[in-house]
Amino acid sequence: MINSSLKQLSVALAARKISSVELTQLYLDRIAQHNPALNAYITVNPEMSLAQAKAADARIAAGQADTLTGIPFAQKDIFCAKGWLTTCGSKMLHNFVSPYDAHVISQFNEAGAVNLGKTNMDEFAMGSSNETSYYGPVKNPWDTQRVPGGSSGGTAAAVAARLCAAATGTDTGGSIRQPAALCGISGLKPTYGVCSRYGMIAFASSLDQAGPMGRSAEDLALMMNVMAGYDERDSTSLQRAKEDYARDLNKPLTGLRIGLPKEFFAEGMGSDVAKAVEAAIAEYKKLGATVVEISLPNSKLSVPVYYVLAPAEASSNLSRFDGVRYGYRAPEYADLTDMYEKSRAQGFGAEVKRRIMIGTYVLSHGYYDAYYIKAQRIRRLIAQDFVEAFKQCDVIMGPTSPSTAFKLGEKGDDPVQMYLSDIYTIAVNLAGLPGMSIPCGFGDNNMPVGLQIIGNYFEEARMLNVAHQYQLATDWHSRAPQP
Ligand code: GLN
Repeated sequence: MINSSLKQLSVALAARKISSVELTQLYLDRIAQHNPALNAYITVNPEMSLAQAKAADARIAAGQADTLTGIPFAQKDIFCAKGWLTTCGSKMLHNFVSPYDAHVISQFNEAGAVNLGKTNMDEFAMGSSNETSYYGPVKNPWDTQRVPGGSSGGTAAAVAARLCAAATGTDTGGSIRQPAALCGISGLKPTYGVCSRYGMIAFASSLDQAGPMGRSAEDLALMMNVMAGYDERDSTSLQRAKEDYARDLNKPLTGLRIGLPKEFFAEGMGSDVAKAVEAAIAEYKKLGATVVEISLPNSKLSVPVYYVLAPAEASSNLSRFDGVRYGYRAPEYADLTDMYEKSRAQGFGAEVKRRIMIGTYVLSHGYYDAYYIKAQRIRRLIAQDFVEAFKQCDVIMGPTSPSTAFKLGEKGDDPVQMYLSDIYTIAVNLAGLPGMSIPCGFGDNNMPVGLQIIGNYFEEARMLNVAHQYQLATDWHSRAPQP
């Protein structure tokens, strides 16, 4: 059961081979057994999960089931979920029980899905290793000495270790794709605006996007059918006709033009990663695709641009955490200003403080033009590179991450090394494009390697088709770590 696809689970539930309560209990038992070693979940609440499962069983019995009714999903702890502790990985929100549902959560609820629990993450989604979480690091289920990636590392570890059927993530600079790559699962960051950000705790609003993480492209398509959609409560939510993201899964890939950015295949990529990615491209040629070399000349500036813009937006977004409206308040203080200062000093971790300081600096009078405006200009050039590239190809492929999962603590005191983990993913967020990562082999130390697929705006269905055809021809996505 734990290796079944979402489609298989849906069929089994409809045929009453298993009930939602039984399936939910199965995962709760696995969480109880394996989570102490992995730390993938911050919160599990069996009572609430089983109540949802019971309701799902009633809905199935009444013949009113949707595809995902009764299936247990984990939710990244960045999504507000009514009645659930919602921490965003921070001490600042250690006691915040959300009074409302994020749009993504209410979409899952409407579909009759079961919320299995809230997954661990880097504090306020800032990180690439899950080591910045107030709740402690997540361990990679393939090797518990290694990181799962970040910031959606709890989700990635939970999916890989079969501690949920599938789960949600968010991606501001790579946080769905990089942990998916490092844990050997599939993940999709949709086009900016496709999934509502309402109730998703904000990091960098012009970049943040929710997306599905699961074991196969087919599973991601079914989740996208639930997660995507217009929501008037998010002013950047896009008003588009509802689409079936699974509609093109079975199309053949004959004639597909794959763009390979020469900048991605230059120095910086580990040789083990290069080998696996090249083998994947060879497989695509067998499936009928052709390859063209393309160039993304400004992509080398994406990391520095991101580390001006994302902290700038974060410094503004995080100003709301002041110890008054919700969250952590310092126990002792002299006056109001002291209370703000102490609450923020004690409530935020080191990486979050670093970003707030950088953001405040680049937005301050006298530096705004030199840093913030300049970065915005380069952001436009980076997006323009993709417009040019997509004149020559249908999808772009390359590595998701320069290396496989590194050891816990390995990049702890070097933030710049950590930031470079997202060198291949960040440009996609800056451009607002959809991107995904699928498993394509194993590198040194037998750790999973991810293949990144970048599509043009709103081409999610095509990307899922491209990924699904590869997954029909290979079995990397069905490999699982030993428990
Ligand atoms: N690793 C990047 C950062 O630390 C991206 C994080 C994300 O996508 N949320 O900001």
